[in-house]
Amino acid sequence: MKSLKKGVLTLSLAGALALSAVPMNSTVVEAVGNGPGYGGNETINTSILTTYSEMADFLKKQDAKQANMELEVIGQSVKGRDLYVAKYMTNPENPTILFLTQQHGNEQLTTEGALEFIKHLGTGKMKGVTDNVNILVVPMLNADGAMGDVDFSLDDYVASGDRNLTRYNAVGVDLNRDHVDKIQPETKALHDNVMSKYDIDYMIDLHHQGVNSERDGELVSGSILYPTTPNADPDVVEGSKKLGAVVFNAVDSTGWGHLGKYRGGDAETISRNGIAVEYGISTLLFEMRGMSDHEYEPYVLGQKSNGYLIKQTITTLESTVRAIADGSIDTQDISFWDTLAFQQTRETE
Ligand SMILES: [Zn+2]
Repeated sequence: MKSLKKGVLTLSLAGALALSAVPMNSTVVEAVGNGPGYGGNETINTSILTTYSEMADFLKKQDAKQANMELEVIGQSVKGRDLYVAKYMTNPENPTILFLTQQHGNEQLTTEGALEFIKHLGTGKMKGVTDNVNILVVPMLNADGAMGDVDFSLDDYVASGDRNLTRYNAVGVDLNRDHVDKIQPETKALHDNVMSKYDIDYMIDLHHQGVNSERDGELVSGSILYPTTPNADPDVVEGSKKLGAVVFNAVDSTGWGHLGKYRGGDAETISRNGIAVEYGISTLLFEMRGMSDHEYEPYVLGQKSNGYLIKQTITTLESTVRAIADGSIDTQDISFWDTLAFQQTRETE
């Protein structure tokens, strides 16, 4: 089994190549939304993605290396994989943000970004940030689905490589519909040992959506949404909109990022709604463009966009912890939400 270091290097290289391919002097900005989907006969090889074991090794190494990081096991998946939270809790009085990735196992680049973010927290790049904000990262909540270690067939899935990745956990349940009942061990672990245990102010739940969504005629690099259930406290929703403002300003202004408003439902079985209501946490859903694997081709994105999408995750995580640490989140202008258009599905031939 190759080391994580190699995996991360491969991805970083892919990112660097993707970035260097941007024609700097051209009027055509090759935004992440323009990367080809699987439909362009792209290679989708899952062996470039970090495996669960590589992730676990990486987290343990960072834990040993970083003085203010603490790694904790919050429970086990259906198939017995340890689930982790990486904690940076310098001062209990600080505001706290939680980043959650890969409730859906086939939405992996958010985890790749979160691991890079953890690495950055241990370097001079993010020096001092954790003095003023507490950070919790729960990466790859659906570890079994991410590894394709499930009790149903993935024969129809389009990716090649070491494994197939699926949305569902090992027994075929969508974890992001289990936030009220909390029946699955993964959701139970999250609620018992993270949500109930810490005084969390903000959460970003990171996902991937299909490939063909657009806003204002351009394919999006992602979409965002705050809690939409009528049961969420208005102050909580306002906090969510401010969190969204930080993300929108950081990502949409980059030239490669282009965000739409996600059209999401009111069900509280979904974390964006349920966690906002149950714990009074300001939540933001962030759906990045394209999945790592799926049986339905228009959901799967060619890996040429991987570098951008990992960068989009890192940008999101770093900009929000900085805005919370320096208090600038409190003065965010949330009026952009009133004009931000819902993304639409592009008609394909
Ligand atoms: Zn998802």
